[in-house]
Amino acid sequence: MSDATSDRLEVGATIGIIGGGQLGRMLAMAAARLGYHTLVLDPAVGCPAGQVCDGQIVADYDNVGALAELAQRCDAVTYEFENVPVPGVMKLLERVPVRPGPGPLEISQDRIAEKDFLNQIGLPTAPYRTVDDQAEITHALEAVGGRGILKTRRLGYDGKGQLRIDDGATPAADAFAQLGSVPLVMEGFVEFEREISVIGGRAVDGSIACFDPAHNVHRAGILSTSTVPCGLAESVIDHAKVLTTRLLSELEYVGVLGLELFVLSDGSLLANEFAPRVHNSGHWTELGCTPSQFELHIRAVAGLPVVNPVRHLDVLMTNLIGDDVEHLDELLNDPTAMVHLYGKAEIRHGRKMGHVTQTL
Ligand code: AMP
Repeated sequence: MSDATSDRLEVGATIGIIGGGQLGRMLAMAAARLGYHTLVLDPAVGCPAGQVCDGQIVADYDNVGALAELAQRCDAVTYEFENVPVPGVMKLLERVPVRPGPGPLEISQDRIAEKDFLNQIGLPTAPYRTVDDQAEITHALEAVGGRGILKTRRLGYDGKGQLRIDDGATPAADAFAQLGSVPLVMEGFVEFEREISVIGGRAVDGSIACFDPAHNVHRAGILSTSTVPCGLAESVIDHAKVLTTRLLSELEYVGVLGLELFVLSDGSLLANEFAPRVHNSGHWTELGCTPSQFELHIRAVAGLPVVNPVRHLDVLMTNLIGDDVEHLDELLNDPTAMVHLYGKAEIRHGRKMGHVTQTL
C-alpha cells in the first residue's frame, strides 16, 4: 500500500484500470515495468488487458459491488475508454484517487459539451448545431454551410454513428432514424489538408508534456496509419502543442489525452475531438520515444514525474485491422518492424487486432 498522505504510489502499489481492451493491456504492461500491479475491470473473460495484468474483476463497468471491490483493492484507478459511466467514477472517488477524474469524461462523452468547452477555452472547431429530430436537419445543414456530417452526440467511435451530407444533397428523409433516433450534432464539413493528433500528459503537480504530432490517415472511418514527423512547419507543430497544453491545463487533467486536429491549407487548426485516455495515434511512441504514452500516463496516475518525451526515431505506425494480421510473417521478417498483437482470438472485419511500428 502507498502512503495515503502522498500523491505518489510506492512500488508494489496497485493501479485499477477500467476497461480491458488493447489500451488497458498496454497500460498494464507499462505499469508492470515501473513496478506496479494492475487490476482490470472488464466484463469479458480473457480480454486483452486481462491476459497481462495481475488480476481481473469480471463485471460490468457500472456494477456497484465490482466498483467497491476495485476501490478496496487499488491505490489509484484510471480508465482506458471514454464511455465509462460517470456515476461509477464518482462513487469510486469517495474511496480512491481516479486519474483523470470524472470532469474530462463528462465533457468528452457528449459532442456538444465537448465542442462548447473547446470553443470556450479558445480551441476553435468546425461550426456545429444540435439536431434533436428529423425536422431540424435541413436548418442545421444550412447553418453549418451546406455541407456537413451528422453524428450521434454520444457513443460514436471509429466513424460509427455518422452520416455525411454532401453539397446540394437533400438530407435523407430517414437520416435521423438511420442514426438511431437519438440526439445528434450537425458539424460543418471541414476541407482539411491533413489530420493530426497530439498526445499530451499532465502530472498531479501540474507539469505538462506533449509528444510530437502524428499525421493520421483513416480508412473507412478507422485510423489506418500515424506518421511522425507529421510533415508540417515548426510553427504549426508548436501551435498544436500550445492548444494541447491549454486543454490539459483547463481540464486540470491528470494523465494522458489525445487531441485530434484538422489542419487547413493555410496551416490553421480546428479541433475535432479529444479522448481522455491514451490514444491509438500515440502507439508510435512505444518505438519512437522515451517515455511512451503508456508510461507517461502511468507516471501521471502514480504521481511520478511527467517529463517531456524525447523522440529518437521517425516512425510509421500501421494498425492491423481484421485480416491484416494474416500477413504477420512478412512483418516478422522485417527487422525495422515492431509487431504488437492484442491477444484477440477471433478475427473480425474492422476489428483492431494489433499494430506494427516501423522506423522510417
Ligand atoms: P470522429 O469520430 O469525429 O473522430 O470522425 C472520424 C473521422 O471522420 C475523422 O477523423 C475525419 O476523418 C472525419 N471527419 C469527422 N468530422 C469531420 C468534419 N467535420 N469534416 C470533415 N471530416 C470529418
